[in-house]
Amino acid sequence: MPELPEVETIRRDLEPELTGRIVTKVTIHKPDIVLPPGDPDSLRLRVRGRRIASVARRAKYLLFLLEDGPVLQVQLRMSGRFALGRERPDPGEFRHIAAEFELDDGRTLYYDDVRRLGGFRLLDREDWEREEARLGPEPLEPGYGAADLGRALQKTRAPVKNALMDQRRIAGVGNIYAAEALYRAGVDPRRPGRELEADQVARLHRALRSVLREALAAAGTSFQNYRAVNGRSGSFQHSLRVYGREGEPCRKCDTPIERIVQAGRSTFFCPACQL
Ligand SMILES: [Zn+2]
Repeated sequence: MPELPEVETIRRDLEPELTGRIVTKVTIHKPDIVLPPGDPDSLRLRVRGRRIASVARRAKYLLFLLEDGPVLQVQLRMSGRFALGRERPDPGEFRHIAAEFELDDGRTLYYDDVRRLGGFRLLDREDWEREEARLGPEPLEPGYGAADLGRALQKTRAPVKNALMDQRRIAGVGNIYAAEALYRAGVDPRRPGRELEADQVARLHRALRSVLREALAAAGTSFQNYRAVNGRSGSFQHSLRVYGREGEPCRKCDTPIERIVQAGRSTFFCPACQL
């Protein structure tokens, strides 16, 4: 599932192309990609004819801010991906086109989603702002400090890995980057958030920001389905140190990487390096 670096990569691909464009026609091929509230017909009618004022990201949401208010929120979930062009994209790569947004410059934005767990929500600006206010801070904002992370972890008995993935505490971090940041920081993912020492919080803060920044520079992790716009792969999968490496030797100490399940998700870690 795309996390902050993947969604931000897509945003950076789309932003210069879509800003200022008018959506002239919307076609929904698979109605289940229109997520509640709302339905395919109202989404089609409300988006058609509107100008895209900007393309933004908050947490793992991609946001098309439409002129005069509404926000078209995209949740990419497992397999959502975009193509943009004058011609239909390669059917080998884009076999499950679920929606098309025709633009006033003759190009079309295609949304493809093989598993159709993701999709679009059209929200009034005020509803989005209410939802947005419940999300935690963005960890790559310049002002996000170790004290902010410490406060978020201080309040919870939950294992630190789960706390990092809680979007109300910190925005945009999911399974891959939580595991990688904890490994870099040398912190056991099972340790309760509020039991972390100050120096561990400081290391985790540094590790989290550096892993997210490096992944963003690599256009994200194309581990399973994720691709940037028009099928471009990310390359951070080559830099993963624990995620997906169960049984393989730790790069620092040669101990086999272990996999455990936390809150229904796999956690990979080095039992010798992470205390
Ligand atoms: Zn190790």
